Amino acid sequence: MAAGRFSRIIKDLINPKPPKPPYSHVVQIGDPALRAKALTVEPKELGSEHIQQVIKTLVKTMRRYKCSGLAAPQIGVPVRIIAVEITKNHVRAHAPAVVKAREMRVTPLRVFVNPELTVEDFTTIQSPEGCASLRALTGIVERYRSVTVSGVSPDGERTEWRADGWAARAVQHEMDHLAGLMYVDRCDPRTLEHQHWALINARAGRFLQHFDGFRNRQWGLFL
Ligand code: ZN
Repeated sequence: MAAGRFSRIIKDLINPKPPKPPYSHVVQIGDPALRAKALTVEPKELGSEHIQQVIKTLVKTMRRYKCSGLAAPQIGVPVRIIAVEITKNHVRAHAPAVVKAREMRVTPLRVFVNPELTVEDFTTIQSPEGCASLRALTGIVERYRSVTVSGVSPDGERTEWRADGWAARAVQHEMDHLAGLMYVDRCDPRTLEHQHWALINARAGRFLQHFDGFRNRQWGLFL
């Protein structure tokens, strides 16, 4: 047994109290935080320990789950904060043709507090996307090609960013989370797919899905 897993079991035995939000795990569909309308962060709250902790945990959890975007409701806190980051590993995990079709490009970390969205290019792209709060499923969602997101940075500076392609998709997905929407509200349900359906057949159903981080190679596909 790995040392990390062993110490976690011991820790759980000593301290069985459930954690409180912001969680370091991603909540799953059914959690009321995902269906709430996220609250605006008041300027005087931005520097508070709580909000700064939410931001820190959001980025850490997004990276731990290999997501290219995450919204605060997904760590159990329905406030208007989103993060987007597309890393080299996210891009490399997909075939060049897929990267091209999805317009996936390395995008440094961006965190927006109280983001607002403006559509720049009404051309739409249909592409599969997944949500870390709906584990292992993907569905085809139509999204605008280019958007501008404006808001406040974690330091309280006004900030604006034009996002294209996959980054624009990530922004639209995270903005939906702030409105209590999930991608399954927008996609054709007939396009829903379990990422491991073939493996489940190959293993005669013996397949364990865990909810702590990500181990598969679908990096960046989940938001
Ligand atoms: Zn999501």
